[in-house]
Amino acid sequence: MWKYAPLLPVERKENIVSLGERITPLVELPTFARDIGLPLLRMKDEGQLPTGSFKARGLAMAVSKAKELGVKKICLPSAGNAAGAASAYAARAGLEAYIFLPEDTPQINIKESIVCGARVELVKGNISDAGKRMNELRTWNKDWFDVSTLKEPYRLEGKKTMGYELAEQYDYELPDVIVYPTGGGTGLIGMWKAFEEMQQLGWIGEKRPRMVSVQSAGCAPIVRAFQEGKGESQFWEDAATVASGLRVPKAFADHLILKVLKESNGFAVAVSEDEIVGTVREIAQREGMFMCPEGAAGFAALRHLLSAGFVSDEDRVLVFNTAAGMKYPQVV
Ligand SMILES: *Cc1c(COP(=O)(O)O)cnc(C)c1O
Repeated sequence: MWKYAPLLPVERKENIVSLGERITPLVELPTFARDIGLPLLRMKDEGQLPTGSFKARGLAMAVSKAKELGVKKICLPSAGNAAGAASAYAARAGLEAYIFLPEDTPQINIKESIVCGARVELVKGNISDAGKRMNELRTWNKDWFDVSTLKEPYRLEGKKTMGYELAEQYDYELPDVIVYPTGGGTGLIGMWKAFEEMQQLGWIGEKRPRMVSVQSAGCAPIVRAFQEGKGESQFWEDAATVASGLRVPKAFADHLILKVLKESNGFAVAVSEDEIVGTVREIAQREGMFMCPEGAAGFAALRHLLSAGFVSDEDRVLVFNTAAGMKYPQVV
């Protein structure tokens, strides 16, 4: 991602904190794609990034910029993978990390944070409760730099590199539809920003992909707001899903997510927990790819998009697998 450095906020090369981020591949799923009738389907496999999820992009950027700004301590609440990525990049940069996780966060995310030396507190409830607990402690820990989703500008800048990469991989003819499993929405908003920048640079024209947010029926505040035509979401009570990255009952930047969906003539879909787990198995068995439940939610959504007539066999459809399935042994 650092090849796009002139378009990124880190000013001095020596401040880049890297664990070897790579350009993630576009992968075909020939059997699955043929079966559902979307021959031009591709997956961008973000599970191949350091720490096994695309949270690496955002946290690599946030930690690098924090280092450049002279920050010594970072803090964040997380639903799982952001904790691991923040802890890893903080360790690499020599920063202290204070992490707040729901107590039922997958064990792997707790362990990957602790093994990297982060201070971890488990909080009863969901990511919103974890955020409240963190903010209590911040009142007397004024030197903690808050890297919560979209409360600082840099994670978004890291995630926007997905937009640059995929544009390059599609030879600057952006795909027709991008399907994004949405929690806090950083990637969706980040890619949209990247497309705008690329147009200003003259790299692409005005044409944009139709952007699709996918959520679990167990926590679908963006889908509900989209269906009701609202510009903001409502807090989702009793949020529960195996796709832990999607368990965000009220995204801080919900208005920006909904704006992108609207501007792009996009769509929002909720899929059931059974569909998510079923799709993890289906794609593993037919394609040999063990994807994360959030990614599987995106593929499960394709059947809904087909029956709604939102996509057709002529569309170049891109779905993000946002983490490695191997981080989710409990799902299967
Ligand atoms: C965080 C996360 C998401 C959601 O990403 P946002 O940019 O916050 O919407 C999706 N999948 C996985 C695996 C995640 O960790």
